[in-house]
Amino acid sequence: MSEEINPFESLQEQVDDAAAHLDVDSGALERLKRPERVLETNLSVELDDGSTELFRAYRSQFNGARGPYKGGIRYHPQVSRDEVKALSGWMVYKCAVVDIPYGGGKGGIVVDPDDYSEAELERLTRAFATELRPIVGEDRDIPAPDVNTGRREMNWIKDTYETLENTTEPGVVTGKAPDSGGSEGRVEATGRSVMLTAREAFDYLDKDVDGATVAVQGYGNAGSIAAKLLEDLGASVVAVSDSSGGAYDPDGLDTRAVRERKDETGDVVDYDAPETISNEELLTLDVDLLVPAALENAIDGDLAADVRADVIVEAANGPLTPDADDVLTDRDVYVFPDILANAGGVTVSYFEWVQNRQRFYWSEERVNDELETVIVDAFDRLTSTFEDRDLPNVRTAAYVVAIERVLRASEQAGVWP
Ligand code: GLU
Repeated sequence: MSEEINPFESLQEQVDDAAAHLDVDSGALERLKRPERVLETNLSVELDDGSTELFRAYRSQFNGARGPYKGGIRYHPQVSRDEVKALSGWMVYKCAVVDIPYGGGKGGIVVDPDDYSEAELERLTRAFATELRPIVGEDRDIPAPDVNTGRREMNWIKDTYETLENTTEPGVVTGKAPDSGGSEGRVEATGRSVMLTAREAFDYLDKDVDGATVAVQGYGNAGSIAAKLLEDLGASVVAVSDSSGGAYDPDGLDTRAVRERKDETGDVVDYDAPETISNEELLTLDVDLLVPAALENAIDGDLAADVRADVIVEAANGPLTPDADDVLTDRDVYVFPDILANAGGVTVSYFEWVQNRQRFYWSEERVNDELETVIVDAFDRLTSTFEDRDLPNVRTAAYVVAIERVLRASEQAGVWP
């Protein structure tokens, strides 16, 4: 992992790469590369032993031209101001790629949740929700889960907001449990869009997903569900990993059994696989499909030269550096980008928000059907743009489509005051 690469600079480079194929004036281009505002706050939280600890937290609201800011909140020791800014920008372009009526935002707390009790995490989450209260709302900014957060945290955020505002407003946050206004299918949605993107990609490239070999780096919500759904399509998931290391079986792993073991012990390496494998070995395995599903910068330019997969579908946000993109484009490795492949999460968040506002709830089947339509339409739009405009790769096509949509909304709004 290349920790020295700043994800915010990667985002700006991706926008510049796409803008080179568009007629954008320089002032409008600058607006596409910087957040509108960033909240930075220090949360005081009482620990179980009675002491107090201070936690740094951020919320970046990148662009609201197409609708309320939208994006997750992550709990991770590597959270930084620039990481949150980058992630909020990726949300803008992701929401535009799938054409849902949102801008982009992102939040994060610098914390390793493994080091704290559930009661401490609740106090931390409620402290952040209290700071967020003036800047969120179902028409302003709508948080959601991200790395190391899920239903539990979203339920706490909803309850804090509603209690302080003396109202019911479930659409202030998405990714809640169904009994608290969450949507069916939301937990699986990110992995499902990764599977759908891979399925469409193989079809587009005239390859057979049935029997294809797959390696998945990262076994959290996105990676483990993508692996399971790909296995259900007939693919052979030969390697999976998390920060503890990886499990490898050339004949194909039982992805559900790996997940069960990880749920028990926290680590993929505790699964009794025929062989273990390091993250770097996994990323350079000779497989048909590679799915980076962990954090940013998993593959840099040097590692990209050693990648042997034919197709990469990005489940994580920002797993390839711009240098890696250049190397893989030169080597004719097809990369289907994060802002398409993992957009299922925010798409079903949008369905959840629609259901919350209507107080009318959908079946899981309806959620999955509508999600499939959104992802397949976006896939077709990106691949036709890639071909018709003779663009270097599908990521550039994704940014071209997304930037045009954001620019149209900005132009229609004009510059005021
Ligand atoms: N954190 C997810 C993402 O990066 C989901 C965001 C959302 O549902 O708003 O896309």
